[in-house]
Amino acid sequence: SAVLEAPPVTLAPAIVTPPLPRQRPVSLSCVLPCWNEARNLRLLLPLLARVLASLADEWEVVVVDDGSTDDTTAVLGEWTEMPHVRLVQLSRNFGKEAALSAGLEAARGDVVVLMDADLQHPPGLIATMMAHWRAGADVVYAVRASRDDEAWAKRAGTRLFYALINRFERVPIPEDAGDFRVLDRRAVDALLSLPERNRFMKGLYAWIGFDAVAVPYQPQPRAHGRSHFGAGRLLRLSIDGLTAFANWPLRIAGSVGVFCALAGFMYGAYLTASYLLYGHPISGWTTIVVTLLFFFGLQMIFLGILGEYVARIFDEVKHRPLFVVKREAGSGLPPRTKPC
Ligand code: UDP
Ligand code: MG
Repeated sequence: SAVLEAPPVTLAPAIVTPPLPRQRPVSLSCVLPCWNEARNLRLLLPLLARVLASLADEWEVVVVDDGSTDDTTAVLGEWTEMPHVRLVQLSRNFGKEAALSAGLEAARGDVVVLMDADLQHPPGLIATMMAHWRAGADVVYAVRASRDDEAWAKRAGTRLFYALINRFERVPIPEDAGDFRVLDRRAVDALLSLPERNRFMKGLYAWIGFDAVAVPYQPQPRAHGRSHFGAGRLLRLSIDGLTAFANWPLRIAGSVGVFCALAGFMYGAYLTASYLLYGHPISGWTTIVVTLLFFFGLQMIFLGILGEYVARIFDEVKHRPLFVVKREAGSGLPPRTKPC
């Protein structure tokens, strides 16, 4: 009888490089939201031009001037005379989230890169990100490898914010990911189709889904100037994010109310029993005042939370545009005709 032999074990290489699905020619838009970044733009634009030209057949840089008061206009005057650089000048400072929306709307490439204009986001990383896009990812986002460059209080605040916003929510927002991203046209169109006025971009990126890949990077120190996001602005941004992406603050009021009512009922029953059965006198002006103040405070806190949400509803129903464009200049990619 034939002896059954085990099939030979072949040690085939585990990794088979798949053919890259996106080898076709690509047009690339790079969006830079800028608020008083003239000195940084002088450094960044030449660097970026070299990187983008090496990565794409056609490319453009869309500079969104978010109400700058420095000589950004002068710097861009030199650049917009050449092909590839376009300026979208907003009529005042509308904030980074609105500037990003303006840039996404103006961008005409098959792929859009979003990055800060202060050189904190190394342009060299775009090559790695584009490699992931070529391999099939629709969204490639850079995550900070560390937050050692930030103050202790800012790191603690960030952790608390992500713990709060990701609590009970179905679409988690990745921590340490910022606005340095590569977006496929499909993702850009999905973002543009979202109608809300309150544009907390980090949440919207997560909400649209698609295949996302994270790439770690080390944020560089700002080349010139100072960060625009102080404690006050960050707090406002956090409240915008929480009200746009978390519903639980509205719901916990109900649970806390039930808990307090039950506690009050039980304490009342105990006092009544101790008075009727043992004749203990009921006293306690202090107790009453403290309890009243406590619950009054609690109610006011919940009213405040409710107010934040109502304010957002008010913003939404006003239907104002997200930004106003004062001027456009320069020429980049041709307007899009066909869907990607
Ligand atoms: N920015 C903007 N509008 C604003 C605030 C910031 O366009 O109202 C731009 C800014 O010019 C920069 C990017 O957003 O290109 C990131 O801002 P910044 O470096 O101040 O923030 P940080 O890096 O500290 O988060
Ligand atoms: Mg910065």
